Amino acid sequence: MKTIDHWINGTATTAGSTRTAPVYDPAAGQARAKVLLAEPSDVDTAVAAAGKAFESWGDSSLSQRTRVMFAFRELLVKHEDELARIISSEHGKVVDDARGEIVRGREIVEYACGIADALKGGFSDQVSRDVDVHDFRQPLGVVAGITPFNFPIMVPLWMHPIAIATGNTFVLKPSERVPSASRLVAELYAEAGLPDGVFTVINGDKVAVDAILEHPGIAAVSFVGSTPIAKYVHECGTATGKRVQALGGAKNHAVVLPDADLEYAANHLTAAAFGSAGQRCMAISIGVAVGSAGDGLIEILERKAAEIKVGPGYDEGNDMGPVVTEAARRRVIDSVALGAEQGATVVVDGRELRVAGHEGGFFVGPSLLDNVTTEMSAYREEIFGPVLGIVRVDTLDEAIALINANQYGNGTAVFTGSGEAARRFQREVKVGMIGVNVPIPVPMSYYSFGGWKDSLIGDSPIHGPAGVNFYTRAKVVTTRWPQSAAGFNFPTSS
Ligand code: NAD
Repeated sequence: MKTIDHWINGTATTAGSTRTAPVYDPAAGQARAKVLLAEPSDVDTAVAAAGKAFESWGDSSLSQRTRVMFAFRELLVKHEDELARIISSEHGKVVDDARGEIVRGREIVEYACGIADALKGGFSDQVSRDVDVHDFRQPLGVVAGITPFNFPIMVPLWMHPIAIATGNTFVLKPSERVPSASRLVAELYAEAGLPDGVFTVINGDKVAVDAILEHPGIAAVSFVGSTPIAKYVHECGTATGKRVQALGGAKNHAVVLPDADLEYAANHLTAAAFGSAGQRCMAISIGVAVGSAGDGLIEILERKAAEIKVGPGYDEGNDMGPVVTEAARRRVIDSVALGAEQGATVVVDGRELRVAGHEGGFFVGPSLLDNVTTEMSAYREEIFGPVLGIVRVDTLDEAIALINANQYGNGTAVFTGSGEAARRFQREVKVGMIGVNVPIPVPMSYYSFGGWKDSLIGDSPIHGPAGVNFYTRAKVVTTRWPQSAAGFNFPTSS
């Protein structure tokens, strides 16, 4: 069985790691490889190499960094098929969906190709007699990323292209469930001309995460994952003086108003709830049907859920693959059962689904629950599987109040034909990313991604301008040429 190793200082290595974890093919329900789990001493080795590499990379020209990013972008295009198959085989999602995350991740590299523009500072001429002021930003040093299983390549790409293009060296600890895509990325960076030690992959579990959080040689940590771990990472990372950006879980609501095109809304809700087997932080897990929209919406959703073709993600023609682990499958099944027990109407029941020839796979079909209420666990918990709950309310005001009372505030959407309702919705909801007739409003690379409330711990969203700010710090320089006589007063303009 293949062992997936680390990438330290431009070389594949086992370092001092002896522990391993199985890496599953979720469609087969079988371990196909094992991944090394780093010890704190491995993190030390990696950070030492990254620190050494920073001495020259932190001083490299913008032209050199940009050239590497352009070359890396081309290699991501060239290896798209291979990456998509790797992602599908370890995560379970269908290959076309994996391609989608590669494309969206690659857009961050494209943003990083223009980093020279994003790093331009300001200049104020003659702020006082013979005095000018300018500012510029510098990299932090060694920075680290800790990423979740559900986007094996896109979420790491939210981080490292911007960190590296701004002059930092980057240590990635990907999810131990989906390690292979990041190992290939390390080789692509090397081929693109990135110097050794600038991009590192340390595979591992909590031991590696804790070593990163405690390491004095790491200046900043980017985390994306579940809310409890985001809170933990934020608390421990900031306690050791690091900058931390920590993005957490979600429970995203899509509101459907009676004036919406119901067929269009149901189409998008179906894709957003069941695509990637619901394992997206921007998945729609709650539909809020307003007034008379309810019955018609349920009828179309039921029909569309029945049309979803479930099977291995790497086989052509499937819409939805398995969930990532047997534990995840169990959690989905238990959530539907609890929903029924607590009074929800199970309109579509995916619990018994079996895929012929793949009986051991972690498959579960789409489930649709109607008449969900806010007290039910199906409403309150992030199921992170193919379960769409429908809450019925009478007015847009009630829908907005519902969303605002929720623990999470990652993404939300409204389906309507009314500009006035859409405008009120976007102004009043306490959520970071909003779609108007768009179900998964993931911002483009040149904007920043981040939720509100328990979906983002701390204050830094990720990528775009917020990413550039996160990975750099500013200096403001006040210059006088030539020197004039110094006064004793606090300096003011003259
Ligand atoms: P997770 O929190 O279990 O794991 C994320 C990372 O933390 C992994 O690298 C893992 O190794 C590490 N980790 C896990 N347990 C740890 C512990 N006890 N101590 C230290 N480190 C630990 O998340 P996941 O299951 O891989 O991913 C799914 C979650 O991520 C969902 O909650 C989803 O909403 C969230 N997510 C959020 C966003 C966003 O942008 N807000 C994006 C993608 C995923």
